[in-house]
Order: sequence, then C-alpha cells, then structure tokens
Amino acid sequence: YAKPLQTLRDAALLSAFHGDKDFLVYEDYRCTFSEHQRLVAGLARALREEYGLTGGDRVAIAMRNFPEWAPIFWAVQVAGLVAVPLNAWWSEDELRYGMRDSGAKLVFADPERAALLGREVPVVEVRGGESGPGVRAWSDLVASIPADVHPPEVTIDPDDDATILYTSGTTGRPKGAVGTHRNHVTNLLNTVVNRKVGMALENGGVFPEPGPDDPQPGALLTFPMFHIAGITMLCFTTLAGAKLATMYRWDREQAEELIRDHQLSSAAGVPTVMRDLVENSEAVHGLDGVTMGGAPIPPDLVQRIGGLGSSASSGYGLTETTSTVVGNSGEDYQEHSDSVGRLMPGAEIRTVDPATGDDLGDGEIGELWFRGPNVVRGYWNMPEATADAFTDGWFHTGDLGYTRDGWVYVVDRLKDVVIRGGENVYCAEVEAALHEHPAIADVAVIGLPHRTLGEEVCAVVNLKTNADVEELRAHVRKRLAGFKVPAHVVVREDPLPRTATGKVLKRRLREQIVQQG
Ligand code: ATP
Repeated sequence: YAKPLQTLRDAALLSAFHGDKDFLVYEDYRCTFSEHQRLVAGLARALREEYGLTGGDRVAIAMRNFPEWAPIFWAVQVAGLVAVPLNAWWSEDELRYGMRDSGAKLVFADPERAALLGREVPVVEVRGGESGPGVRAWSDLVASIPADVHPPEVTIDPDDDATILYTSGTTGRPKGAVGTHRNHVTNLLNTVVNRKVGMALENGGVFPEPGPDDPQPGALLTFPMFHIAGITMLCFTTLAGAKLATMYRWDREQAEELIRDHQLSSAAGVPTVMRDLVENSEAVHGLDGVTMGGAPIPPDLVQRIGGLGSSASSGYGLTETTSTVVGNSGEDYQEHSDSVGRLMPGAEIRTVDPATGDDLGDGEIGELWFRGPNVVRGYWNMPEATADAFTDGWFHTGDLGYTRDGWVYVVDRLKDVVIRGGENVYCAEVEAALHEHPAIADVAVIGLPHRTLGEEVCAVVNLKTNADVEELRAHVRKRLAGFKVPAHVVVREDPLPRTATGKVLKRRLREQIVQQG
C-alpha cells in the first residue's frame, strides 16, 4: 500500500503490513492482523454493495468493548462512510436519540443494545442469535466473506467526515462532534509523537529503535471504544502493529491475567482505573508504559507510576479536539506532573478571559481555546451550539487553565469552579492536595451553597483507611491557603458517580450531598 497516510482508510490498509502478528485479544477470542484485514475488506464491501451505502452515509456502533468493534470501525472507514459510535452506557431513549440525530442507516449492536434499538434501521447483531426480520446475525455476515476478498475502491478526501462522536452530555443534550479524516490522522500522529518523545527522553534523547527480537508491543485498553480516547488507542495499536486486549468491564484480576499471559507492554485508561491497577497490582511492574486521559490526573499518581519504573504518559483534550491537544510523557512528566504538558505539533492555544473575551498573558488563568488540524469542524445539526463553541476555528474548551514557559496547566472546568466569597477555588488543586494523603482512595471537590459566602468548599471522599476529618483538613491547610480548605469533608462509602470516561458527575454529586443535608 504505497500511499501517504492522509485518511483513516489509509491507516486501515497500511496495517496489512503487520501480516500474521496477533491483533485482537478478548477472553478466548483471537484475531491476527491478516484475519482482521480480510474481515475489514469483506465488511466494507458488504456496506457498499449489499447495504448500498455511499459516501457520507452514517453507520452506528452500539456495543461494549467487544473485539468486533475494531473491524466494524475500520470497515466503515475503508468504505468511506461515517462511523457513529454510541455510548454503550446510554438508556433506550438516549440510544434512539443518537440514531435519530445522526440519521444512521445501519447499526452494529450487541444483543443488549439491539434489544433497545427498535427496527426502523437495519441491525447487525454481534454476539447474538440468528438472523430475523430487520436483524442480521454477525456470524451470517462474516460467513459470507470470501477468503480472497479485496477492499472496495473508494476515494476519500482528508477533509471528509469520518466520525460523529457524542460528548457525554454532562453539560446538556449530547452534541455530535464531527471529526474529519484530517482530524483523526493528526491525532494518530500526535499519539506517536507523544509516546516517542517520552521514550526518547528516557533514553538519553535517542528514539529507541525496536530490534528484530523485541517482543511485539501490546496494550490493555480500558477506555470505552465509543469515546475518542478508546478510538485513539484503537487507531494507534492498529497502525503500530501492537496487540490490543480489551475487557467487557474493568476487572483488576482479569487485567492482571491479560498483562501476564499476553506480555502486554502498556495499559491505558482513566486515572481512577489506572490508580487501581498501579496501587493494587504486581502486574504493573511488567509494563513499560501507563497512558492516562479523559479526566484530571492527580500528580501523585504520575509520580507513583514513575517510581515503579514505568513510563507515565497522558493526553489532555476533548472529543472536539479529537483527543490529545496537549500531551505529557517520560521524564518531562515526572518533572512537571502537575502540568497537562506541551502543545501538540500544529496546534495553537489561547488563554481567554471568559468575561471579556480578551487574551490573557503567561501565568494568567482563563478559558483555554485551541485551533489546529485536530479541532473538529463543529456539531452535527447544531449550528447554534457550533457558533457558541467555535470562533474562527478556535474551540472554546470550557476548561480553565494557564500556560507557563511552554507548559499548559488545567485548573478546573469553568462550570465547576467554586466561588467562595469572591475568591476562586479551583477543584483540581484541592483534589490533588487530598490525593497526597495516604488514607484517600478517591475524592471530588464541589461547591455547596452558602448564605453569605455564595459557595463553600466541600470535599467528598472515599477512604482506604480510617482518617479523621480534621486531620484531612489540616493536611490541606499545610499545602494551600485557608480559603481553599474544605469547610465540609463528607466521607462516603459508595463510589463517586462518574461518566464512562472517568469524570465525576459533579452536578449529581452536589444534588446528592445537598439532599442529605
Ligand atoms: P461533557 O462532560 O461536557 O459532556 P465530555 O465529558 O463528553 O463532555 P470529553 O471530551 O469526554 O467531554 O472530555 C473532555 C474534558 O475532560 C476536558 O474538557 C477536561 O475537562 C477533561 N480532561 C480530559 N483529559 C484531561 C487531562 N489530561 N487533564 C485534565 N482534564 C482532562
């Protein structure tokens, strides 16, 4: 395949290069790169020739992290169609909203979601029963693929749409961010840059070259595949010829087995999941790298990973920036573990005063805006929301942060900042301070209404060992100014409510705490 890497179709076809190496691992399911190529080519043909789909048509995927996700996603790209991954945690109403809003003409669904979807649109049921009215069994579709199938000839422009990815909706109705091939290819290259630079920094400034006898790299993926972080890992492992191991849900013992049995070299996930692995498992000693993203990463976790001899890396970004727009890795990350890192190549950043719209200087906190080849073109069918969030290609993240000497710092989401008596308290700072206390298992800082101050700082914590509330407050006081010390510390038995991508649902948590009085 002698074409430049300009589209996800190119990336899919380039991976033929990896031949009979192992690719997908899930429970007792195995698939090599060659088998994967055949499946992708056959499915892409079926999408165009049997289902009659043509350029720009949308194909939804409503599935947990089953390994079939990979060939489906890639087949949609090879066929020049638009993939619409739907959140597998969504309810029936939300799934139907995603189908309606995107106008998908076909959906690949696992049995649980196929049962929720109705039959207005044809369903291919993966890991389900037999074909019936409106439903085709995956096994039937796959059985019809000949051994010597070739991918269909399709021309794709780098600025054609490749995906519609719904933001999780913690801030209102889910919005479909439309990602182009250029956005995804940029993200793919950024991922390589972030990892390679991290490796070089740990190797005396030299990019380590894999030797012929080096074992095949392999990654444990715990991000949901329907999220941009999961898609990023899928794209990266496919292009890099790495094994990709997935699980139905996070299960530490199963993760340990996968790492051991398949000699995986890295693990990727949201910080809470990676913390569970790092703090409670021996298996992490075998890993070269631990990649995190999707939610704020407490610096103590970065240090801990470094202390175990593994390389921590992270990506900061949003669905709208097609994943990583700022990245941190290697020794840099150990030295600047409170920073989300440095800007990715080609991207530009501004810090903007949210009240006046004026640009702010180095070190001043404001809303982070980004522009560049990884920033999506807007939201599907939502011109007003697009106009609100994008100005001349600059995307307004809704995150507060600042830059200093080329490093980017994220302090909070705009909507989560606690304003106590006119002083801003940035949650990430207080959460990071609490994470340094050995008794803390998890923590979220929120603002509670206060009669005179407007808001008061409250920390909701899960504990691993007993700790006195006053001791926790004193611990924060030693590190931060008095007005940032939580007036309330609520010890909670239940885990904190989180989105599929590790973010605490702060609005819900606030309601729960206010209700409990
Ligand atoms: P919403 O919650 O508004 O519906 P979402 O949860 O779907 O959106 P995502 O694109 O999944 O949005 O998440 C983007 C947000 O995640 C960022 O705006 C930021 O607040 C947070 N985030 C992601 N990575 C990091 C990181 N490395 N450090 C800090 N925060 C991060």
